[in-house]
Amino acid sequence: MILMFLGAPGAGKGTQAVKLSEILGIPHISTGDIFRANIKNGTELGKLASSYINNGKLVPDEVTCAIVEDRLSQPDCEKGAILDGFPRTIAQAEVLDKFLESIGKKIDVVVNIVVDDQEVVKRISQRRVCPNCKATYHMGHRPPSNGTNCDACGTEVILRDDDTPEVIEKRLKEYHMSTEPLVDYYKAKGNLIESEGVEGIEKSMNNTIRALIMR
Ligand code: AMP
Repeated sequence: MILMFLGAPGAGKGTQAVKLSEILGIPHISTGDIFRANIKNGTELGKLASSYINNGKLVPDEVTCAIVEDRLSQPDCEKGAILDGFPRTIAQAEVLDKFLESIGKKIDVVVNIVVDDQEVVKRISQRRVCPNCKATYHMGHRPPSNGTNCDACGTEVILRDDDTPEVIEKRLKEYHMSTEPLVDYYKAKGNLIESEGVEGIEKSMNNTIRALIMR
C-alpha cells in the first residue's frame, strides 16, 4: 500500500506518518528528513537543499523526484510506503504517478490533514526536534521529560532553522501556492480523505484511523 500525507507545515504529517509506519510495518519516507540528513552530512545535495529550505522555498522538482524514485525502488518498499511531504507540487505528483505506474503501483490513499494557518504558526513556534534521532516535541503539551533533552537519545532538542517566524510565513505562502492545489488533484482521482489535525497526537491519529477505516 502506498499512503501519502498531505497538509500544511506543522499539520502533524511527520508525527502521524511515523506512528502509521510502525503500525503498518512499511517505511516512512520524508523528503524533509532526507534533505536534513544530507545537510547534516555536508553532502552536495545538502548544500543545494539548504539554500532553498532556509528561505522557505521548495527544493526543485527534478532533484526531489529523483530522490523519491530512488528511495521507492529499494527492496524495503516492496510492500508499500508512507510518503510524508512528497509530492508538494502538481508537477511532482504527475512524475510520481508515472513512476508508480511503471512499477505496477499507485497511490492508494491520500490523507489530507486539515489545520488552519493560525494554528500552524502557533504549533510550529512550539515545536522542537532532536537533531540526532529526529524525535519531535511540542513544548506546550508534549515536552521532553526534563524540559531540554530528547527522551529517546538524550540529545538537546532544538528549534529547526526553518521553524523561525519569518521562514514559517514563507513556507505557508509556498504551501498555499504550490501544494494546496494537490487537494483538488487527488480529490478528482477519488483517493483523498480528510483528517482534522487537532492538537494532541492520539486525537489526531484517531481522526486519521477513523477516516481510513470509514472511506
Ligand atoms: P518538511 O520537513 O516536510 O517540512 O520539509 C522541510 C523543507 O524541505 C520544506 O520546507 C522544503 O524546503 C523542503 N522539501 C521537503 N519536501 C519537499 C518536496 N517534496 N519538494 C520540494 N521541497 C521539499
